Amino acid sequence: MKAIKMNNGVEIPVLGFGTYQITDFQEAEAAVLAALQAGYRHIDTAQSYMNEEAVGRGLAKSGIPREELFVTTKIWVENVSYEGVKTSFQQSLDRLKLEYIDLLLLHQPYNDVYGAWRAMEELLAENKVRSIGISNFAVDRAVDLAEFNEVTPQINQLEINPFHQQTRNIQALREENILPEAWAPFAEGKNDIFKNEVLVGIGQKYHKSVAQVIIRWLIEQDIVVLAKSVKPERMAENLDVFDFSLTDEDKQAIAALDAGESQFFSHADPAMIKWMASRKLDI
Ligand code: NAP
Repeated sequence: MKAIKMNNGVEIPVLGFGTYQITDFQEAEAAVLAALQAGYRHIDTAQSYMNEEAVGRGLAKSGIPREELFVTTKIWVENVSYEGVKTSFQQSLDRLKLEYIDLLLLHQPYNDVYGAWRAMEELLAENKVRSIGISNFAVDRAVDLAEFNEVTPQINQLEINPFHQQTRNIQALREENILPEAWAPFAEGKNDIFKNEVLVGIGQKYHKSVAQVIIRWLIEQDIVVLAKSVKPERMAENLDVFDFSLTDEDKQAIAALDAGESQFFSHADPAMIKWMASRKLDI
């Protein structure tokens, strides 16, 4: 699979398997195993998904050598501090039964981000993580973090889909050498995305589904994509995107779908920040 080099030289497979909302232990273990059997080598989890242990079981059961896997996890808000990262990172490693993580992200731009970043820089220096990054950071916060610290984040994982294309943000991140990574590429099905006429029409030209058109549209822009499905046939479908290309006309039609706002919520909404601050993980 195509891989993209991050600003530290480490390569990340352009398409990863997302595990958000797969909380049942058996289901999460089976989904990760099936995804690896389908051909994914890049798996995205998080402390807050409450499935790191099951993900680790799926990884182990696959028998795939560790060096062929790319595993991401994310530090939840309550652990975003120097000590919180140190302690909770080790707990994540233990749950995943891994010796190191390929990409460690700050899940949200809240709490003691600077203290947390210093701990992540230390983990990087100790080779306990191969790369470090952020998620859901507005560009100004990302640039601020990069400017006043040793290590520039390798990745910013953001909501990016045809209805929320984030074109200007992505351009600004690229100017800082921070790679964009798309969460909810299908907007979790919101706004009837799988029946969208423009996307269906483009797909028909290439005998591809809406999901395949969206993934292709992202990888052609060198945006890392995370796609989630618990269904093996969809896992395979979402991987089958390397045998066609979009035309400029297709890309213009997709550009016109941009509504310019999140399909979920704003990370600048005080009520959401309070909700996230109050969410304590019980793992
Ligand atoms: P998503 O990938 O946009 O959408 C997942 C939904 O699409 C599921 O309901 C899935 O259903 C369906 N689906 C998948 N492939 C399909 C296909 N080929 N045809 C029709 N339906 C299909 O949403 P997401 O899971 O929120 O985002 C992807 C990953 O990004 C997550 O799993 C997680 O790893 C990451 N993420 C990160 C953040 C963050 O704050 N950093 C936030 C959200 C997500 P089935 O499972 O039933 O197939």
